[in-house]
Amino acid sequence: MSGQETSASLAGRRALVTGGASGIGAACARELAARGAHVVVADRDGDGAHAVAEDVGGEAWVVDLSDTRALDDLRLDTDVLVNNAGIQRVSPLQDFVPDDFRLVHRIMLEAPFLLVRAVLPGMYERGWGRVVNISSVHGLVASPFKSAYVSAKHGLEGLSKVTALEGGEHGVTSVCVNPGYVRTPLVEKQMAEQARVHGIPEAEVLARVMLAESAVKRLVEPHEVAALVGWLTGPDAAMVSGASWTIDGGWSAR
Ligand code: NAD
Repeated sequence: MSGQETSASLAGRRALVTGGASGIGAACARELAARGAHVVVADRDGDGAHAVAEDVGGEAWVVDLSDTRALDDLRLDTDVLVNNAGIQRVSPLQDFVPDDFRLVHRIMLEAPFLLVRAVLPGMYERGWGRVVNISSVHGLVASPFKSAYVSAKHGLEGLSKVTALEGGEHGVTSVCVNPGYVRTPLVEKQMAEQARVHGIPEAEVLARVMLAESAVKRLVEPHEVAALVGWLTGPDAAMVSGASWTIDGGWSAR
């Protein structure tokens, strides 16, 4: 496969990236646009969504994905769906605010389900589709104080596998991508929250909590996750489905 063919692998395709205004989602929007896709940047942050959309020659969809009822009857024509939008809430279980738990689950599990439900009919009709779910290493292993995040991401792993099983015969693949700590605004906020919960300075959270188990000893960069997502939508990944791909600098190898 020549570089040129790879770079045009999504020519004529439409891609939808949720949480595309920032971090990993913005990097994915850029990667998929570079591969030729017309990218819809979906985010509740209107300014950010418009800025990224303009940057990639795509369009913005300003949407609050926590309002899941509004997604119930949705039908969307897209060839690539990247379920990426996410938030984090950190608290010991006994103090976890129930509405915070529900919010995390609505954005990171219910919305991905409703979007998969919305895109599959069109993908089945065209006989081609790629669903990439941005999960986390915490979709595969747990971490204290992150009950909502860990359980939503574990649920996303299951949803991705069921999508793969049902979609396979229609030309639809579904995968999870499982980053370790990535240098994004979400992680910066998380560092501050963990510092509060553990009662240690933020610099120590990075060294003792986030990088302690990393073999490579640095944060993952958003473009590195996006490159993997791009490859997973490409022609060489047609047989990659129902799988989970860690990109964590060796964090989960221990
Ligand atoms: P980020 O905060 O930089 O970006 C998240 C985006 O999602 C933001 O643009 C935000 O506006 C959007 N969003 C949040 N709630 C929304 C809602 N209700 N409706 C619409 N949009 C909403 O975060 P990021 O680090 O790029 O994270 C992206 C994804 O990657 C998340 O699913 C996260 O769980 C996952 N992830 C991140 C890391 C990391 O270390 N940063 C590691 C593993 C997995």
